[in-house]
Amino acid sequence: MISEAEARAKIVEAVHRLPPRNTSILEALDHFAAEDYFARVPLPAFDNSAMDGYAVTASDCKAGARLRVVGEQPAGVDRKLRVSSGAAVRIFTGAPMPRGADAVVMQEDVTRTRDEIVLNAEVNLGEFVRKRGCDLSEGQRILSKGERIRSATLGLLASQDWAEVSIGGQARATIVSTGDELACSGQELHPGQIYDSNSALLQSLLKRCGAIFVSAQHCSDNAATLRNAFQSAAKNEILIVSGGVSVGQHDLVQSVLRSLGAKIDIWQVAIKPGKPFLFGRFGDCFVFGLPGNPVSAFMTFLQFVRPAILKMMGATDLNLQKVPAKLAVDLCNEGDRPHYIRGKLDNGNFVPFGRQESHALFGLSQSNALLRVAPGESKEQGTIVDVQMWD
Ligand code: AMP
Ligand code: MG
Repeated sequence: MISEAEARAKIVEAVHRLPPRNTSILEALDHFAAEDYFARVPLPAFDNSAMDGYAVTASDCKAGARLRVVGEQPAGVDRKLRVSSGAAVRIFTGAPMPRGADAVVMQEDVTRTRDEIVLNAEVNLGEFVRKRGCDLSEGQRILSKGERIRSATLGLLASQDWAEVSIGGQARATIVSTGDELACSGQELHPGQIYDSNSALLQSLLKRCGAIFVSAQHCSDNAATLRNAFQSAAKNEILIVSGGVSVGQHDLVQSVLRSLGAKIDIWQVAIKPGKPFLFGRFGDCFVFGLPGNPVSAFMTFLQFVRPAILKMMGATDLNLQKVPAKLAVDLCNEGDRPHYIRGKLDNGNFVPFGRQESHALFGLSQSNALLRVAPGESKEQGTIVDVQMWD
């Protein structure tokens, strides 16, 4: 049995980045940049007004001063106006600053008569002027290779007229749910049967980390059936098998994979829940064998499959987000494997939720965070801990 850190490192080392592709920026949301991007135009691109008001020369502008309005400068054109001493230009938000003007007075701070304004307040140099390049300089890095493309990143790319971006390739994944006891959705349950919940759980997790879900299949615990399912699934980059990786006599996944010539790199990892986890290679396909208990499947997906998919897609940060939280109870791990406690992070407090057993799907469904407690570790109520978030 290897440690979870070793298992994760081995998996991340084994998988490769998929070839990048160009896509429209809108389709790039939540993907990872395959190159660095640099600003082509500064932001703002020219000095402009932050308010509807009057462009002025600040040194003219004591409270009570009178200025002649000599023109109007709307947004979208440059009328090449000039503000000389004693004058002002009517201006609107986003309009280019006239030559000679070095401040804008808000329209709420003046009294306007026909072609004159009287200032009701003093005006400071640079007030309400957005200077060229104050937000972003030309040539500045706007997106780094491996960074996730978020909505605001898309806005920034659009501001630079990047219509297309290069992003990492998308991993294609199939799911095979194994177990004689599994019934498909819509089927009547016979005594001893359960509905397959892992298939839906794993599909949604694949979607969340950006992989392409290709298909899901049910398989009984029968060597010939498993063999066929694995052979047809191996066309894709990733095969996720649920169940059948433990030590019972119906757990045939490992022996069937070996009989097909697959190489098993990892079997059994020191993690709770999720110990029977398996990782291997079948041709060009990476195989992840997840224990059938739903919480184990969920946990091993997050800790081992997710980082692999993210690396394949070109991400730099493969970790779940960590957030500090105040622990609401005492916790102690007397076992010999790190234990991931499921719970709710609410208002800065982490409260373990539901039964902490690998079949207990309801508790998991009510949780949004994980706390890792190392073997032999005790954590006291009220201490600040780092929890991992997945939603
Ligand atoms: P296994 O890993 O095949 O030994 O299964 C461990 C436990 O998980 C058993 O109680 C199975 O019934 C349950 N299980 C296996 N596959 C699924 C599934 N797809 N959905 C829900 N529970 C499952
Ligand atoms: Mg089984």
